[in-house]
Amino acid sequence: MAGGTFHTVYGRNLVGELKAFVHRPHLVVTMEELWPRFREAFDDGLAGVHFAGSMAIEDLDAACRDLPAAAAVVGIGGGRAVDTAKWIAWRRRLPLFQVPTSMSVNAVFGHRAGVRVAGDVRYLGYAVPEAVYVDLDVVRSAPKLINRSGVCEIFCYHTGHLDWAYARDRGRCEPKWPYDQRLVDESRAVLDGVLAHLDHIREVDETGIRVLMEANRYGGATYHNAGWNPRHIEGYDHFLFYALEHHCRRPFLHGQPVCLGVYVGSLLHRQGAEAMLAAIRRVGVDIRPEAMGITWDDVAHVIKTMPEFVRRAGLWYGIAHDARPDDAFVAEVRAGIEAAFGPWDGRVLE
Ligand SMILES: [Zn+2]
Repeated sequence: MAGGTFHTVYGRNLVGELKAFVHRPHLVVTMEELWPRFREAFDDGLAGVHFAGSMAIEDLDAACRDLPAAAAVVGIGGGRAVDTAKWIAWRRRLPLFQVPTSMSVNAVFGHRAGVRVAGDVRYLGYAVPEAVYVDLDVVRSAPKLINRSGVCEIFCYHTGHLDWAYARDRGRCEPKWPYDQRLVDESRAVLDGVLAHLDHIREVDETGIRVLMEANRYGGATYHNAGWNPRHIEGYDHFLFYALEHHCRRPFLHGQPVCLGVYVGSLLHRQGAEAMLAAIRRVGVDIRPEAMGITWDDVAHVIKTMPEFVRRAGLWYGIAHDARPDDAFVAEVRAGIEAAFGPWDGRVLE
């Protein structure tokens, strides 16, 4: 596997050890609902705690300005907390220590933070943590659906590769990102490793945590390592998520819409759709729209208006730009998903 990934440590009671070695005084960046659980571990050396909230760049910079002076930053939580911690560490040039509390996204392993500039997500900043501490007990205590849903960050390589080959075959690769078989093969091997451990990931056992975390460790850093190239790791999958978020104006558990995008994108390409759907079902990420609190009408609208969306959003070229899915295609998507998961009965699949 390509080098340049973040130093990552697996173990137990890792939060409890932080105060013994993190530079003092330190800032803790976390979520308000997590703090009661971790507060006792910071009874010595704490400069202050900041609860991650708005990711708007002006709000993040206000926090950087207003928080007390500190010698290091500790991020504890999911994507928003670790990205806010990155931002503060970058702005203030402080050492950073990161503790992901679930496997829901790969943000903890990436250099840049996802911040909002005038309402649009931009990946900005640069922070390499001293270490990422994966506490097995902390991760296991997160809901299983949240942990499993992190497979989306790896399953999306399948559609990313299809889109990149599609662009290559039409002479439409961006000049800065010519098709690179080496990157495709490298990331495919990571995807295959995850596909070989779906039952462990479903159960969130120690093997499952290590496999998915190591895969996300690769995926978080490869954007940088490939020269800020996302072509081998992202395509229609995330585009569908961005479009749903834009249309529905509500937050999602990242893995649900992204895995839906993996299935829809594979079906548009007519390559590996059944296998990816079976993997999504087996690992236990419910991609029925109702399980995300949206409707089939929302999904149909977004699938059918993707060509306009990806152009407006300036996303890289792929099948989303060309395909004009009709009602029959949407019906096929629905039939496939309901065959795999069953028709919606009011309960998210456990
Ligand atoms: Zn993602």
